[in-house]
Amino acid sequence: MPRVLIIEDDAENRRVLVELFTREDWKVLQANDGDAGVELALRNRPELILCDLLMPKSNGFEVCRSIRAQLQPTKIIVVSGRDYAVDRTSALEAGADEYLLKPITWELLSSTIDRLLPEIPHRPEPKSVPEHESVPARIRLWGVRGSIPVPGKSTVRYGGNTSCVEVRADGEIIILDAGTGIRLLGLALDKEFGPRSMKLTLLISHTHWDHIQGLPFFSPVYNQKNLIRVLGYEGARAGLAKILASQMETPFFPVSLRQLPSHLAIEELKDMEFQVGNVEVRSKFANHPGICAGYRLATSSGSIAYFPDNEPYEQLKLLLASRDGISEHEARHFAAAERTKMVEFLQGCDLAIMDTQYTDEEYAKHVGWGHSSVDSVVSLALDANVGKLLLFHHDPNHDDQMIDKMVEHARALVAKSGKTLEVDAAREGAEILLEAKVAA
Ligand SMILES: [Zn+2]
Ligand SMILES: [Zn+2]
Repeated sequence: MPRVLIIEDDAENRRVLVELFTREDWKVLQANDGDAGVELALRNRPELILCDLLMPKSNGFEVCRSIRAQLQPTKIIVVSGRDYAVDRTSALEAGADEYLLKPITWELLSSTIDRLLPEIPHRPEPKSVPEHESVPARIRLWGVRGSIPVPGKSTVRYGGNTSCVEVRADGEIIILDAGTGIRLLGLALDKEFGPRSMKLTLLISHTHWDHIQGLPFFSPVYNQKNLIRVLGYEGARAGLAKILASQMETPFFPVSLRQLPSHLAIEELKDMEFQVGNVEVRSKFANHPGICAGYRLATSSGSIAYFPDNEPYEQLKLLLASRDGISEHEARHFAAAERTKMVEFLQGCDLAIMDTQYTDEEYAKHVGWGHSSVDSVVSLALDANVGKLLLFHHDPNHDDQMIDKMVEHARALVAKSGKTLEVDAAREGAEILLEAKVAA
């Protein structure tokens, strides 16, 4: 049952609207002032809000602004008795999707709702295609590069696009990061789905360019049939929605985030464990400038860890010990404890996609830059009994031969350890299947 929130201080007007929607099988929520309306909206996330303009506490413009800043997919119709052009413009600027004049008829309301929420009258469940139901889980790499795209002859084999990994598991399509690789994924999804709607979940590790820059070029966001959730943690200086919107502001891009026709919901994560359908997700904050998270997805056919940007603490803490006024012993103790947490997080995962931007020699010159060396990650993966390790977030200065050498080096480290760990470098276009099995 779709939900509508009616924010209106006039009891009689409210009663009429409630009756209209109840008759049409909507679940109706009501508020008699702006503040109560905003609170109800955020708590219940209704599909539609009808909002009066002149109300106590917060007026309709303020209500639109507050709700729009936090709820992207909810449609807001401002209903007013005043027919001033300036009111209409201000309401739309504040985030309203439509401005209708009182008194209002169901005919007008229903045609407006049809336009704003085309899926509501029939409310079809997004159809899954047979491929979704396929077990085992399928992981496809669309962008494996760190920092900046590097197309060209020297990166042809491993690829030049920045971070984007597609995971299909348990009926879900989960997209890890929206670097430039997501553009090609968008084209592939359009081709696969044709006229059908798609339901996608994007998990954003952090908002550095190489993890979000592809979003404005991801074609499914331009199709109003598609339901797209974007999940990530609040950034250090601004909320996730604000940061994603800012890269699409006029000086940088011709279409604003708000103008995207798909049902795009940007949701800030608060918990470190959550579900995407039947896939259980755990998060862990990375050691990387700003707020950055790694994710571990538990699917019915195995688990996948994704840590695109992360720096181990061992050398970093030692280097900074004197500046931070801690002893070498304390620095080592802190680093060891953090490493243990990381090993626990990765423990036993079938596939780990990990930041290995540097060789040990390069890392020595980049301590504090927020990235890992191959050696440190191989040792971590060995201690955590990872099944397969993919070297990821390749340095833009590394050509294909260099990455080959890093893989060779990583495999030599594994051989020396006497343990088993499959190692490969993430390669754009590669596909990994996790064997179907019963989740532990
Ligand atoms: Zn990065
Ligand atoms: Zn980063």
